[in-house]
Amino acid sequence: MLAELSINDIIRRQRICFQSGKTKSVEFRIEQLKTLKRAIQENTDSIVKALKKDLYKPELETYATEISIIREIDYALKHIKSWVKPKKVRLPLEQLPGTGYIYPEPLGVVLVIGPWNYPFQLIIAPLIGAIAAGNCVIVKPSEIAPNTSAVVSQIVQKYFDPTYIAVVEGGIDVSKQLLAEKFDHIFFTGGTAVGKIVMEAAAKHLTPVTLELGGKSPCIVDSDINLEHTARRIAWGKFINAGQTCIAPDYLLVNRQIKPQLLDSLQKVIKEFYGEDPQQSSDYARIVNQKQFSRLAELLHDGEIVTGGTTNSRDFYIAPTIIDRVSLEKPVMQEEIFGPILPIIEYSDLSEAIAIINEKPKPLALYLFSRNKDIQQRVLQETSSGGVCINDTVMQVGVSSLPFGGVGDSGIGRYHGKASFDTLSHEKSVLKKSFWLDLKWRYAPYAGKLDLIKRLIG
Ligand code: NAD
Repeated sequence: MLAELSINDIIRRQRICFQSGKTKSVEFRIEQLKTLKRAIQENTDSIVKALKKDLYKPELETYATEISIIREIDYALKHIKSWVKPKKVRLPLEQLPGTGYIYPEPLGVVLVIGPWNYPFQLIIAPLIGAIAAGNCVIVKPSEIAPNTSAVVSQIVQKYFDPTYIAVVEGGIDVSKQLLAEKFDHIFFTGGTAVGKIVMEAAAKHLTPVTLELGGKSPCIVDSDINLEHTARRIAWGKFINAGQTCIAPDYLLVNRQIKPQLLDSLQKVIKEFYGEDPQQSSDYARIVNQKQFSRLAELLHDGEIVTGGTTNSRDFYIAPTIIDRVSLEKPVMQEEIFGPILPIIEYSDLSEAIAIINEKPKPLALYLFSRNKDIQQRVLQETSSGGVCINDTVMQVGVSSLPFGGVGDSGIGRYHGKASFDTLSHEKSVLKKSFWLDLKWRYAPYAGKLDLIKRLIG
């Protein structure tokens, strides 16, 4: 039935649903969050299969990085009753007697647009926030992961009323049609270039946006480290989902004293993870499509290959690859890699590494491997990024109590846990006065009152 409705009709029906007030009760929100959890739990097989088809994603990775979004639902369920409560604030003397409080209210109809790399999780995570905050939602999954898009659509249609949550499938044209409409918030995850298109479209309606974008996330490796753990954690963060992760370490900035040992360890770890021939490993994903495969295959020429470098265009395979002697001017160091290619840049002094980072747009994530507290402090103070993870990679995204989002070119706004609720709510400020006292200091005639005002201002 949904397919027969125009985008405009779907939005109109959702507006009626929102206006009815039913999404506002906390009991309703809790019920819907539980339904979403059940929907995911009852459909794990289809989710795993879809991601296998779209990205050859290993089942463990699908559980650890897509289905694990259930934990965000549990977090929301645990805290929602406190999130929805109005928060009392202190009032200045002249406002007394009275009370002030911040009253979170839902925004209305929210649009969620998702990317293809974690095509399930990155639609469901904002959806959880939108439900918790009491909104109606339209989601548009990425057409580039068509099997997952279809599964999201089937699940939502089966478990939710389209006047409350609807899926609109399609590509750029459909996305543009959606963006031409007025929403109360647009939550977009994708590339920086499309982020600008989304923001421009939203500006026409003064619609607020959250933009979860990408970029080149650097990873600094100091010499004061546990080598084995460092190599394992970098290789895992880089090669999970074949490097198609927005917060994968994009390139390494390595202290030259540790570089030979680190390169050895990384090669060892890659073998440990995926065997002699990663193409035969069922634990290694594939590049999503021909376009991305060709783009990445070109980047392999931008340096000296230390390990990997092999490709197979029939199944979009690119081996986990490390490249050395890379010029900062080459495309591999200019664009977001978003694939299993890890360039190595060496530095002698930490200032060089920091300067390279600060010359580029602000990244979504920044990684530092070092035991040295002074170095940790320096990197935190002298660089800016959406988030930082010290002595690990990618794991920061799994902490519901740490807001997730970019800064500058890597995005606008944040979500996960309470941040999702806050982003998709309006914080309404309410001042409530009592009738029992009405001091006349602010009313005309003003004669004789100026001194009091001056004293109040201080
Ligand atoms: P994309 O920007 O190409 O597409 C994202 C969505 O926008 C898709 O649903 C697509 O249909 C739609 N779209 C594409 N072109 C459009 C246009 N011209 N007008 C309107 N809509 C359009 O991104 P992608 O290729 O799917 O994902 C990769 C990018 O996303 C990378 O840059 C990555 O870093 C970023 N990303 C960021 C996060 C994050 O959490 N910050 C997470 C995953 C991916």
